[in-house]
Amino acid sequence: MENAILQLCYLIGSITFIMGLKMLSHPDTARKGNLVAAAGMTIAIFATIFLFEHDGQKLHNYGWIFGGLLFGTVVGTFVAKKVQMTSMPEMVSLFNGMGGACAMLISLVEYNKPEVKETGTMIVIALGMLIGTVSFAGSMIAWGKLNGSIKDRTIPGGQVINFIIFAGLIALVIMVVGGFMPEMHSLFYGILALAALYGILFVMPIGGADMPVVISLLNSFTGCAAAFGGFLYDNPVMLTGGILVGSAGTILTILMCKAMNRSLKNVLIGSFGGQKAGASGASKEQGNYKEISLNDTAVLMAYAQKVMIIPGYGLAVAQAQHTCHELEKVLNEKGVEVLYGIHPVAGRMPGHMNVLLAEADVPYEKLLEMEDANDQMASTNVVLILGANDVVNPAAKEDPASPIFGMPILEVERAEHVIVNKRSMKPGYAGIENELFFRPKTSMLFGDAKKVLQSLVQELKQV
Ligand code: NDP
Repeated sequence: MENAILQLCYLIGSITFIMGLKMLSHPDTARKGNLVAAAGMTIAIFATIFLFEHDGQKLHNYGWIFGGLLFGTVVGTFVAKKVQMTSMPEMVSLFNGMGGACAMLISLVEYNKPEVKETGTMIVIALGMLIGTVSFAGSMIAWGKLNGSIKDRTIPGGQVINFIIFAGLIALVIMVVGGFMPEMHSLFYGILALAALYGILFVMPIGGADMPVVISLLNSFTGCAAAFGGFLYDNPVMLTGGILVGSAGTILTILMCKAMNRSLKNVLIGSFGGQKAGASGASKEQGNYKEISLNDTAVLMAYAQKVMIIPGYGLAVAQAQHTCHELEKVLNEKGVEVLYGIHPVAGRMPGHMNVLLAEADVPYEKLLEMEDANDQMASTNVVLILGANDVVNPAAKEDPASPIFGMPILEVERAEHVIVNKRSMKPGYAGIENELFFRPKTSMLFGDAKKVLQSLVQELKQV
């Protein structure tokens, strides 16, 4: 009877994960989706604690279990409440790393259990150890890089070294699983050491603009490692959760690769994203840029038929999403159509701009994906770029030496006027100069996005 209830709880857990994931795909339902999935997870956890039996024995070490749960809940809640929207990718990386570490520890514990293991179990243990450790070590490096404490480092011959380590890892897994040297436990710990090294070396050289792909790839690794745990414990909810995270992460990785025009192969051998020799450096002489006043901007926009707003990371930093929505409403009142052009990697995490603008109640239909936005560009009178830089950099199309060459961009120059709001001429995340700022169609509107937008709204009301 108890087992039937346990299985029912697992079924509820699995179904709520799938429902939650579906709901996460739209900003209107995303919050609720998160809660639905979390509720399912809570049911699954408590069912395991109180109903799970192994060899006629229930779980007993409640002090450790509830101590861990309490500690995790307090730390998790505190960190999640405190985190700035702009630091979300760091937090995702950190939490993802914890998932990888759990998979690694599960493999470690299971390997050290005295009972004889079948080949299938050994495969799952060894692969869980490999993938979990790569994910843990890689996520920690990604976390350090995103918060600026670790700098990009290209290791000479890095690709070859990575390949050798990878081959070594496969060889170790085969030896451990095949039981070729049963007494050599160090082989198993060799997987741990080499996988940690691989995780570090794999993420270390990856530069600026390519981090989102890596984070999402590591996320899918953690999902796979968790699914291995599900196999080990014959636990359907862990298996479903792991598979969902693994496949969602893989799909996201593929979508991000497409958005940045990188092949998955390049991601896997950890070779991309570094500054190429002769890349456009920040010191390159670019000529002059022209500035525009708030008043001229207001007039230009008030008499436009169509305005396209391009939000970027700076809009999130300035927390100017609400003021941006206000600007849109004032323009609408003047009969101006306002749309938003959303680049898939604008901001610092996938979907960052969608989440940011949804928070300010910008209608979802006004957010155009990059291809649709580019289709509308030629009929747009004014493009207003708010704290975006890399995602509108023409070097991605025109300069083969640029580190971002090949990444699709929002082709703002097809519009009649381009107004760029940022605080200075400093580069964006990829650390490279943007020639758009010096082009004839472009005018710079300097200042913090929130302050500039507030003043612009006032100016517009008077036009
Ligand atoms: P960028 O990082 O290219 O540029 C942001 C610009 O915002 C800066 O040039 C900065 O210029 C400006 N800015 C900063 N603060 C303010 C402010 N308060 N007011 C006005 N402007 C401000 O951002 P994009 O969104 O264009 O591009 C995203 C980049 O981040 C890409 O390179 C992408 O690959 C990378 N990335 C994306 C992730 C994702 O998943 N979306 C994850 C990790 C990285 P100034 O200092 O002069 O104000």
